[in-house]
Amino acid sequence: MLKQRRFLIETLTAIGLIAAPFVLPHLGFAPNTVNRILVWGLFGLGFDILFGFTGLLSFGQSAFYGTGGFVAAYLLTRAGFGNVLVALIIGMVAAAATGYLVGLIALRRTGIYFAMITVAIAQVFFFVEFNPLSDFTGGENGLPGVPTPSFNLGFTTLHFTNGWSLYQFIALCYFVGVIIALRIVRSPVGAIFSAIRDNPLRATAVGHNIHGYKLTAFVIAAAYAGFAGGLLGVLQAFMPPDAFTFDTSGQLVMQTAIGGRGTLFGPLVGATVWLFLQDFLQSALGLGAAWKLVLGVVFVLLVCFLRGGIIGGLADLYRLASGKRGQTEAETETEDSGATQQPAPAPLQAKEVEHPAYSGPILKARGLTKRYGGLVANSDIDFSVNQGELRGIIGPNGAGKSTFFKMLTCEIAPTSGQIVFEGRDITGLKVTDVCQLGLTKSYQVNQLFTGLTVRQNLTIAALAELRGKFRLDLFRKLSSVKGLTEQVEHTLALVNLARRADTPVSELAYGEKRRLEIGLALATSPRLLLLDEPLAGMSPRERVETVKLLKSIARGRTMIVIDHDMDSLFELVERVTVLQEGRVLVSGTPEEIKTNAAVQEAYLGGVHGEIAA
Ligand code: ADP
Repeated sequence: MLKQRRFLIETLTAIGLIAAPFVLPHLGFAPNTVNRILVWGLFGLGFDILFGFTGLLSFGQSAFYGTGGFVAAYLLTRAGFGNVLVALIIGMVAAAATGYLVGLIALRRTGIYFAMITVAIAQVFFFVEFNPLSDFTGGENGLPGVPTPSFNLGFTTLHFTNGWSLYQFIALCYFVGVIIALRIVRSPVGAIFSAIRDNPLRATAVGHNIHGYKLTAFVIAAAYAGFAGGLLGVLQAFMPPDAFTFDTSGQLVMQTAIGGRGTLFGPLVGATVWLFLQDFLQSALGLGAAWKLVLGVVFVLLVCFLRGGIIGGLADLYRLASGKRGQTEAETETEDSGATQQPAPAPLQAKEVEHPAYSGPILKARGLTKRYGGLVANSDIDFSVNQGELRGIIGPNGAGKSTFFKMLTCEIAPTSGQIVFEGRDITGLKVTDVCQLGLTKSYQVNQLFTGLTVRQNLTIAALAELRGKFRLDLFRKLSSVKGLTEQVEHTLALVNLARRADTPVSELAYGEKRRLEIGLALATSPRLLLLDEPLAGMSPRERVETVKLLKSIARGRTMIVIDHDMDSLFELVERVTVLQEGRVLVSGTPEEIKTNAAVQEAYLGGVHGEIAA
């Protein structure tokens, strides 16, 4: 099924590109306009991987467009280089290398700061191109005389000179660009890109080195930009200095938003609308420079009413037309699936976890302290958990339970103290590395990949365990990752979500989301699993089901569970540690804790009265 759809996109792209010279002239498109659209489309393929798939909005793509363009044009005009294709590839490599260096700086920040750094860096490139490097770039005159490609096949020479002849070369480049981009977004790396866009915090916590992947996306986008910049010079027989301007970066962002981000073809569609409007309004209607006013209005309307751009709008229409039936099916499934409606089917036995030779306590914390300014959230905590143990942690609100978990998983660094996991000092390690070692947690507030389905969510987590924290398998099929399908299916069954596997997270009931939250941690096959209030916000019925589920998950695992619902927790765990005001008050069996006078006092004196219930 997936394979057929894959070929469908590639075949449709090929058919579209072959048909374009026969169809588009009848719609008023000049060959030069179509070629320019393709160059923008190619530029946008990389940008969409960066922005649409990875969620990184860069306003500095002109830096790489210009770099690739001027390197290729310089080689072809001033350095006497003869082979256009090789010059374009060298330009692309130069842009990718530049992208790597710029990415190292820009990706130190996120969100608006990242965007601002890219703007600033692009401005620096613009300045450098015009001033110190004007001997190489021609300054404001650009580089004229860029040749068009020709290929000597021995018996004949193919020339791609201009118009529809040059179109064949550019269309082939675009097609290859699409094939590569499709491979990338369907690879494990592509899946992780989407996870970073949806929830970078969780992508890190399940064990991915997201900085490395973001840098990869940045370099890919720079490479596409560099190649497209080179093609611009070839197309115009002249490398224009304005390739480096902020307008170029801005136009790319707007075209992607118009066409639809995260679709790969959005920038191409956006460029078509943009350039068609430009030609039509400027020439046919004689609006001159005022055409941008109309474009502005069109842009605002499109962004307001079609949040997914033109392709997103068309996809919504398609879903609306064919979706009634699908929706009814989904609703039926919601009604008869999940723990909220029916007793959970018997979940699978927990996967046997291999224990290393180490035989002492799986986790030991000594003198763990966390201060926030004057506030001491955790104070001098000594804590130890044995292999296979099921430990509960209770304590009134503000007792420091979540802070304690965050320190154990190295999400935050302790002010002082030491954490030893399986005999190894993990104090000061990063959360990604600790997860890779086999220690992770589920969150008190759901941290899911909200734009993905249940199966895709679990895939992201399983990939971290199966591939390690960083691997550049850009052209590998997701389905060829050994053990992935088994691990995802196994986890789906463990958290009782097998029937909801292909449902988007946004359509899940709350109880299902909580189970997926636990599933994300489980899919990394942790040797020590921490669950931060797994029952939070659930109805009594959901709690009963989830406790059942947790019992089955706990078989063969070591788990530490925080929860306020003491009846459920005492039923689940073997020992309980009580925290109060950031300190360990007492540890013991549930029976001992229930009757402990200090615990009674702590609870009856605090907000929670459950202990007495
Ligand atoms: P619990 O999980 O037991 O409710 P927490 O660990 O969330 O308790 O919080 C313990 C104390 O630390 C609280 O007083 C809380 O306000 C404080 N705290 C937690 N996180 C921060 C933070 N990031 N900055 C400042 N204070 C914090």
